[in-house]
Amino acid sequence: MTVTRFAPSPTGLLHVGNIRTALHNWMLARKVGGRFLLRIDDTDAERSREDYVEGIRADLAWLGMAPDSEVRQSQRGALYEDAFAKLAAEGRVYRCYETAQELDLKRKVALGRGLAPVYDRAALALSEADHAAKAAAGERPHWRFLLDYTAPIVWNDGVRGPQSFDPARLSDPVVRRADGSWLYMLPSVIDDIEMGITQVLRGEDHVSNTAAQIQMFAALGSAPPAFAHEALLVGSEGKLSKRLGSLGMAQLRESGIEPGALVAMLARLGTSLPVEPLTDRAALLERFDLATFGRAPARFDEAELARLNAAIIHQLPFQDVAERLPEGMTEAAWLAIRPNLDRLSDAQAWWQVVTGPLTAPAPADEDRAFLAQAASLLGELPWGDDIWTRLTGALKQATGRKGRALFLPLRLALTARDHGPDMLALLPLIGKEEALRRLHRT
Ligand code: GLU
Repeated sequence: MTVTRFAPSPTGLLHVGNIRTALHNWMLARKVGGRFLLRIDDTDAERSREDYVEGIRADLAWLGMAPDSEVRQSQRGALYEDAFAKLAAEGRVYRCYETAQELDLKRKVALGRGLAPVYDRAALALSEADHAAKAAAGERPHWRFLLDYTAPIVWNDGVRGPQSFDPARLSDPVVRRADGSWLYMLPSVIDDIEMGITQVLRGEDHVSNTAAQIQMFAALGSAPPAFAHEALLVGSEGKLSKRLGSLGMAQLRESGIEPGALVAMLARLGTSLPVEPLTDRAALLERFDLATFGRAPARFDEAELARLNAAIIHQLPFQDVAERLPEGMTEAAWLAIRPNLDRLSDAQAWWQVVTGPLTAPAPADEDRAFLAQAASLLGELPWGDDIWTRLTGALKQATGRKGRALFLPLRLALTARDHGPDMLALLPLIGKEEALRRLHRT
C-alpha cells in the first residue's frame, strides 16, 4: 500500500509551493488507492502557531485533499527519545559544544583553504572526562548524527533519476539542540518509519537532507522509502519570487480562484502534460505520473491561473455552485450567465441584470422609435423560450435594421450593458412584464 505524507511546519500560512507538494503527495496516494497523511512538524515550539495548524487543515479541505489521518510531532517526543537513545548507545549521535560563531570561523577557514566547509568532527575527540568537565562548567551539548563516510549514498529518485552522494561532502547534521529540542531531520525519519511512509515527495531543496536521512533510516534498521524531489516553483519571470512565497490560499480565494482551478494547474505545472481546465479529479489522477515531471523549475503564472479559472467556471454544474449563488438564482440563469464569468462572485451582478432594478442609460435619439416598436411587438408576440428570436425577427422585418443596429439598442435597454450573456437565454429569465417595463422606460 502506498502511503505518502505532507509535512508542513506550522510557522506560517501555506503558499502555492507548499500546496503543490501537498497535492502531488495526495495524487500519488489517491491514484493507487493509498493513504495520504498530514504530519504537522511543530517541534519548534516558539515559531509554531495553532492558528497556522488550523489554516493548513482548512486549506487542504478547501482544495478537497483532506488527509486520511494527522499526527503532530510535538506529541511524539517519547518516540524520538527511544530512537535517539538507540542511536546514542551505538555512537551514531555525538555531543558537540561549538557555538555558532566558532562554527562560522571553522567554515571560513575551510573555505579559505579551498576545502568544502564540512564540520571537522573535532568534538569526536572529546573524552568522557572532557564531557564531565563541560557539564560541571554548565555547558550543555548539542548532538550531531555521525554520517558513515565509507560508501556513497545512492538512491533512484522518482524525478531526478539515479543519485549518488559522497557523504564526506556533508557535515554531520545537528539533530538535537542543547536545550533538548529537535531539529527537523531525525524526527522526520523516525516518523516516516513509524507512519509506514512508502514514498517521500518533496522539493529539490531537500536533496542533500535526503542523503543524510537515508543513512538515518539505515542506522534505525529500516529500509528508506522511495524518494522523489520536484523542481521548485518559480514566478512567471522565471525566478523564485517573493510574491509566490507568500501567495496564500485566502488571497487566491478572495480573488475568486476556484479550488478546482488551482488543483488543475498545480497538477500539471512543471510536467510534460498540458495544463487543461479539467474539473474531473479522476481524469487528473489517471495521467499523473512522476515520470512526466521535468527538472526545470515550474513556472507559475497568475494570469494563466485566472484564464484557467474562467474556463473551469464555465463548466461548473449548478449543483456544485448553487449555495454560493445569489438567493433565488435558478439553474437556467446559471447556465445562461456562466459563460460570462471570470469569477463566481460576478454572478451577483449578472443576476441583478435579470431581476433588476437596473439603471439603463438614456437611449440614443435615433433608437427611441425603434425601442417603442420593440415594446409593442413584445406585447403582441406569444411569450416563450424563443421569444428573443421571434422578437428580433419581427423587428428586422418591420424596420429593416440588422446586426448591431438591431441588437445593441435592445441589449442596452434590456440589460443596461453593451455585452453579456446570450439574449436568447437572458430574455426569458427577465420575463415579459419586466422586459416591457425596461423597453417602455426608454
Ligand atoms: N517540515 C519540513 C518542511 O516543511 C518537511 C520536509 C519533508 O520531509 O517533507 O520542509
